[in-house]
Amino acid sequence: MSEIKVRDRRATLPSVDRVLQAPAAAALIERYGRALVVAAVREALTAARAVAAPAAIDDVVAASKAALERLMAPSQRRVFNLTGTVLHTNLGRAPLPEEAVAAAAEAMRAPSTLEFDIASGRRGERDEHIAGWLTRLTGAEAALAVNNNAGALLLALNALALGRETLVSRGELIEIGGSFRLPDIIERAGTRLREVGTTNRTHLRDFADAIGPETALILKVHTSNYEIRGFTAAVAPARLAELAHRRGLPFVEDLGSGTLVDLDRWGLPHEPTVAEALKAGADLVTFSGDKLLGGPQAGLVAGRADLVATLAKNPLKRALRLDKVRLAALEAVLRLYADPDRLAERLPTLRILARPREEIAASAERLLPIVSRAVAGTATVAIVETKSQIGSGALPLSLLPSVGLTLTPLSSAGAAVEALARRLRELAVPIVGRIDAGRLILDLRALDDEAAFVAQLPNLK
Ligand SMILES: *Cc1c(COP(=O)(O)O)cnc(C)c1O
Repeated sequence: MSEIKVRDRRATLPSVDRVLQAPAAAALIERYGRALVVAAVREALTAARAVAAPAAIDDVVAASKAALERLMAPSQRRVFNLTGTVLHTNLGRAPLPEEAVAAAAEAMRAPSTLEFDIASGRRGERDEHIAGWLTRLTGAEAALAVNNNAGALLLALNALALGRETLVSRGELIEIGGSFRLPDIIERAGTRLREVGTTNRTHLRDFADAIGPETALILKVHTSNYEIRGFTAAVAPARLAELAHRRGLPFVEDLGSGTLVDLDRWGLPHEPTVAEALKAGADLVTFSGDKLLGGPQAGLVAGRADLVATLAKNPLKRALRLDKVRLAALEAVLRLYADPDRLAERLPTLRILARPREEIAASAERLLPIVSRAVAGTATVAIVETKSQIGSGALPLSLLPSVGLTLTPLSSAGAAVEALARRLRELAVPIVGRIDAGRLILDLRALDDEAAFVAQLPNLK
């Protein structure tokens, strides 16, 4: 009896060939290619067989089409970052200026002068494209770029302290996100960590006492993402630099975010600039390209020419070097810094960070009725004063006054706010907010393209 049943089931399913001959399948082949369509049709038929469901040719084509659309959709997609964290590491940190986008596209399209000197016709140096700008903007003698700041630090430690000791204050042995822990980086760089002082207090004499024949360098790390308060003491970089130099050691500072301009100018909290750190005596400064600098992911090193040359010669430099695409984008971003007066207009990161509260409030007023209509029946919407964070460890305790919309689900079910957040994430350009106390908050500081945001709200499911 069961055999007859199985036969019946098979009879209700078309063959792969018959499905492929359907006009709708031909359209799919035209779009995705035969191999992918055949595989998708097979899978759709297998799935129908598994549940013993009859399926017409149209059903199989429709299932195949849906599967192919899912498969071929880009995995990395644009999103609206309304989390309130401007430089969000999980959302790709700094949005790049159009100048950088154009430069990157140009570099991708054709051969370039990446390591070629036009004047002599000889081999050139890839870091030349950015070193001139970096030295000009920081006062450093020399500069280079690698994959990211973690890489810059790894390279500096390996090149200057391999097999010897690196001195760091116990108050600065930080973790930044799961995979960046300073003690681990120091160990992997092949240098020995020598902890100095205590968690809350480190004095100059602690460093002085720790220096011995094995000491290779003194490292200072910007405690980007936390602050020690209360009974504390840290050694000012200038005094640490002076001690290092007196004992013939290089003094390296990991600034983390680092910035090339004084942010006070735009009413933002002060963050040490690279120029200040060098002036205070740092021999090398390392910092990120995609944090406050507002460029592509990169790790930048600026400082003494002899030390930069030592780093450049290290084999790790080859492993960590930047590609032509990011170098082109970085060069374009650095060029914008030549005109600080217009920087806040042209550099998206700075524009977003410096955006006045009133302007964000006006955006909230405009959007309130539109968003209310879009979620009518499932949530109520209100305007809320909120605080944005810079993010990526920059100035963790300095929050920027901002304005947002709160979406409060009508249902009091615990999962209602998660369901609401998911609906917004399922839009063609996902809207990513943050959940707080049973409400979804959309911080509008980073909403640059209000029209695009509004245009897709009717598609909310
Ligand atoms: C962010 C940060 C890093 C890591 O920089 P990446 O560019 O993400 O590799 C290292 N040190 C400090 C102090 C930081 O803030």
